[in-house]
Amino acid sequence: TEERLLRSEKLSAVGQLSASIAHEIRNPLTSLKGFLQLMKTSSIDNLQDYLHIMLEEINRIETITGELLLLAKPQVHQFHFEDIKEMVGNVVILLHSQALINKVDIDVSSDELPLVNCVGAQIKQVFINLIKNAIESMPNGGKIRINLQNDCKEGVCIQVVDHGCGIPEELLPKIGLPFYTTKDKGTGLGMMTTLKIIETHGGTVDILSEAGKGTTINIYIPINPLAVKNIDEA
Ligand code: ADP
Ligand code: MG
Repeated sequence: TEERLLRSEKLSAVGQLSASIAHEIRNPLTSLKGFLQLMKTSSIDNLQDYLHIMLEEINRIETITGELLLLAKPQVHQFHFEDIKEMVGNVVILLHSQALINKVDIDVSSDELPLVNCVGAQIKQVFINLIKNAIESMPNGGKIRINLQNDCKEGVCIQVVDHGCGIPEELLPKIGLPFYTTKDKGTGLGMMTTLKIIETHGGTVDILSEAGKGTTINIYIPINPLAVKNIDEA
């Protein structure tokens, strides 16, 4: 009975996730359909405005499906030994213009790091998610510090520190739930994806935050997750 219980719990979790995905995708679809019907039946003056909104709705569906695809089970052969410091450097370059627009400075300091056996595209996505959140937490600009440390217990520690809006303590348990967002244009999928990816790599994520002061995210990834075997079974 114990296993049966677990299975039905899993099933209802899948049901809940499906419901929220369907909901999130149906909203922009409904508005797209409405616009198209309007365009079909009447001539429209401000066509550009309509097209602009329609493109945004399509972008939203694209973002949501893209993030969900990242959760798909990684293939074992996608694991390679990667240079984490170089990956972080590339992500900082990638987000440079977004940081600039938001008057945010990004500082990286790093120990000598061992190569880490990981799925490069996924770990890169984790850095993108965390740094974007840090940028978005500081609407008036500020500084993000990224510290990369060589943890002698056969892993690396990645710390992302911002001095942004922070997260009220009572909301901490909600971080990482699918579609939980406090932002107008958020998807609420970034942290869920991040937690899932780091779990798949046999690592850990710790969130320290204080409302109004800022947030520190600590990630630990083992150099060579024995998890490769578990991942196959998962
Ligand atoms: P999104 O960024 O689309 O809202 P995420 O899953 O990335 O979705 O984040 C979920 C929520 O967690 C955010 O809406 C925000 O409330 C909170 N959050 C995440 N990172 C930070 C941060 N660095 N500072 C403040 N709040 C954060
Ligand atoms: Mg985010």
